[in-house]
Amino acid sequence: MPVLVVGSIALDDIKTPTAEHRQLLGGSASYAAVAASFFGPVNLVGVIGDDFPPQHKELFVTRKIDLTGLETAAGLTFCWSGEYEQNMNNRKTLSVALNVFEKFQPKLPESYRATPYVLLGNIAPSLQRSVCRQVRKPKFVVADTMDLWIGMARADLLELLKEVDMLILNDSEARQLTEEDNVIKAGRKIATLGPRYVAVKKGEHGCLLFGRDGEFFSTGAFPLEHIHDPTGAGDCFAGGLIGHLARTDDISFSNLKEAIIQGTLVASFCVEEFSLRRLEKLLADEISERRKAFGTYIT
Ligand code: AMP
Repeated sequence: MPVLVVGSIALDDIKTPTAEHRQLLGGSASYAAVAASFFGPVNLVGVIGDDFPPQHKELFVTRKIDLTGLETAAGLTFCWSGEYEQNMNNRKTLSVALNVFEKFQPKLPESYRATPYVLLGNIAPSLQRSVCRQVRKPKFVVADTMDLWIGMARADLLELLKEVDMLILNDSEARQLTEEDNVIKAGRKIATLGPRYVAVKKGEHGCLLFGRDGEFFSTGAFPLEHIHDPTGAGDCFAGGLIGHLARTDDISFSNLKEAIIQGTLVASFCVEEFSLRRLEKLLADEISERRKAFGTYIT
């Protein structure tokens, strides 16, 4: 089953305590679409400027991602710049230049409208909602979000929650959204706001999954000693998760647990190199091998 991915496509400038790189391929949709492509066909919706390097587009082509919904607008591609502290869990945004993203209105090609599995990658909730209005009876819709939108677009986000099957956010965002200190309380509370399920990411400490009917699952992250660039890990998690659901076409709670694990594993590869460089070389067999090893760590 195909997956529809919408989100940002960016050129990122990233600084870590040991390295600095500019004009890297980034954006929530880039990471999520490439992550989902390891599981099956992907339809991408996003916008790039006329400065977007051809080799970045080539990566999408190599991963067999359908680019009918990729718009090229006159102007510069969305640019984001971030810096990590010594503790790579802490990141600050240095600058954001919306550029062609400022006027972006996602338009789904007719051929995308019946895509059964939908990932609304991290962009403004109003844009995510506009995609919900354009898809026809999807089987499962997942939305990702971030602190910026909880602060700036709370009303839109709360409306979006009524239209999606799952929300993904990190633990501090879950606290921010609910004003609850306890992350379990926060997760359970969000599951009463609309989505059937809520996945709360905890960085290197893994992820919690809450269901509206009291379902609960918890997993750790894949243990890694060296993290080069955590950018996009959350987007890869979301892409791997929806990719697994689409490949298996099974939205039962037990399969959602496996989807959380598959998302966790794809994210673990993402952080091993800057940008999408590790995913560019990744083989599906490497995900399966890591899955086997992970199975021995959790049982
Ligand atoms: P993550 O590390 O999973 O939070 O995702 C990082 C990616 O999100 C980067 O590649 C950025 O280009 C992109 N990004 C950062 N801020 C925004 C924003 N406000 N809207 C959309 N994408 C963003």
